[in-house]
Amino acid sequence: MASSSSIVNQIIQQEVLLDDLSDDDLASFCQIANLAYRSGESIISDQDYDFIYLPALKQRLPHHPLLQSIEPEGRGFSEEKVLLPEVMLSTDKAYSWDEISKWIERLKKSAIEIDLNSNLIQIKATPKLDGFAGFDDGSRLYTRGDGKKGSDISRVFERGLQVYNDSERGQGAGEIVVKKSYFEAYLSEYFEYPRNFQASLIKEKALDKKAKQAIANKAALFVPFSQLPIRSVTIDELTTKFEQIVDTVLSMVDFDVDGVVFEATNEALKTQMGANRKFHRWQIAFKENKDKAQVTVLSVTPQVGRTGKITPVAELEPTQLSGAKIMRATGHHYGLVKSQGLGAGSVIELTRSGLVIPKINQVLKSAPVNIPEICPSCGEVLQWESDFLMCLNHTVCPAQVVGRMEYFFKILANNDGFGIATIEKLYEHGIRKVSQIYTLSIDDLSSMGFGEKTSINLVNQLKRSTSEQIEDWRFLAAFGVVRLGMGNCENLLNFYPINAIFELNLERISAINGFAELTAQMIVTGLDSIKPEFDLLSQYHFNLELTPLQKDLVEFTHSFSGKKIIFTGKMSGSREAMKKRAKSIGIKMVSSVSAKTDYLVVGEKAGQNKIKNAEKFGVEILSEADYLALIK
Ligand SMILES: [Zn+2]
Repeated sequence: MASSSSIVNQIIQQEVLLDDLSDDDLASFCQIANLAYRSGESIISDQDYDFIYLPALKQRLPHHPLLQSIEPEGRGFSEEKVLLPEVMLSTDKAYSWDEISKWIERLKKSAIEIDLNSNLIQIKATPKLDGFAGFDDGSRLYTRGDGKKGSDISRVFERGLQVYNDSERGQGAGEIVVKKSYFEAYLSEYFEYPRNFQASLIKEKALDKKAKQAIANKAALFVPFSQLPIRSVTIDELTTKFEQIVDTVLSMVDFDVDGVVFEATNEALKTQMGANRKFHRWQIAFKENKDKAQVTVLSVTPQVGRTGKITPVAELEPTQLSGAKIMRATGHHYGLVKSQGLGAGSVIELTRSGLVIPKINQVLKSAPVNIPEICPSCGEVLQWESDFLMCLNHTVCPAQVVGRMEYFFKILANNDGFGIATIEKLYEHGIRKVSQIYTLSIDDLSSMGFGEKTSINLVNQLKRSTSEQIEDWRFLAAFGVVRLGMGNCENLLNFYPINAIFELNLERISAINGFAELTAQMIVTGLDSIKPEFDLLSQYHFNLELTPLQKDLVEFTHSFSGKKIIFTGKMSGSREAMKKRAKSIGIKMVSSVSAKTDYLVVGEKAGQNKIKNAEKFGVEILSEADYLALIK
């Protein structure tokens, strides 16, 4: 393999095509490009990073740490990290109207849950600045860092930097930016992108003349998000005039803008939607991507994933798109092949999307399709599960067994060397489980045909994977239980220590906010199936960083735990406080009355339909006072 610096150059010079890069090279290139970008010395354009390389990484290694964490900063900041005054999350991104409309659906759904009329939802649209994120608490300025800890860069204010609109310090999150017109007139000769210049303002070394001048001219500024111009719209307006709204917002400020941030403004709705580890659910950034191509499909082949899902992979007539040669694209499922006629000879529209790359947008000209009847890996007859074609031979199917083992090491992300090629070789020599891999010695590996150096390295990497600390939720997620991705694992471990999760029943899991009953059932079954492997691997004493328990949030011993309740009408106290209290004792809030609802709690001017339905389904109706007395 070439050294990483020469690979980087080859990629930048486009001597190596994306499709020819190994997963490892792609991952290290993304890391290097990200670090370079964060330290203000971009090696590729933001467009290429956002639309070509990062999506490719997401497609090939969806669980790579670079995609999981809020983007780390480059090595430009060597100082000690300090705790931020408040957590700064990243913003979820959408690259198409389709994704925005799904977000709107989520807003509406949450609005129903809090009895908010969706016509009343206000959405605030602001330009998404392409600057350097910071948090100003009034006395200090911090970089975003990993979202929890950042670096103190207060020196940039000491150097005279002003706050946008001549406003006060201490307005929280914002960005250090430079005016576009000023950059073009005075700086573009010296800096390739405004970002490079923006970062130079923050660096420890003394400022040069150009930077001092830009600060003195108030061309370089700190722009708190609260000072940005706003376009306020309803869901209806956003739906009917989306492109027009985006165009308007993109040109509202004289700064580099790389998208539009949409957010719900209703506080109760925001509380209801909350946040996950990475971003607020009530906020999304839209980034445009217009590169499209029409491409002829040469063939479509089935590929078996670790869960048994069969994915159609289209081999394409090689096509140049956004500066890279595309030869392959993945369809989401075989339902698309069947319904749209994605076969050899069909013509598809491709875009470079931020989510999956390259993505098959639509089939423009269909062709006869070939739907596989048996699994290409194990020969099992395939089954349809809605749009998905599945191989249900989970325990034996080689592609799934290999996929699961590979997934384990990929998710742990604290080891190298256990990529697909290594795992396939281990499989050929009878290895079927991760726990078997951990028993292997250097001699065992050598006898399987691994070279001496490789065998030593692999054993060392196994040791490293157990000694290098990882979060307990990451460890649990590595087992690949359906519905137990990293986010759900973290949520679960917020409430139960990792050693106690195998004792959990459906009721306890579904009492946690965020786990629907079906999900909880799948988790219980899934945990059961991994228990023997979990126990075997636990013998190696992985160095787990335990998630702090939020015990005080849930008193699962309460007799109302797991009960499904709806509130309707005006309560004497705040609805939010009531919901919070209900959730804290494990009550599940539901949005409509059904036979499965346990109680309808009615306040003043309660919804008559809900009461009628409750009577129809035999749901017990409680007054607010009765309810409060019962849960005391
Ligand atoms: Zn199979």
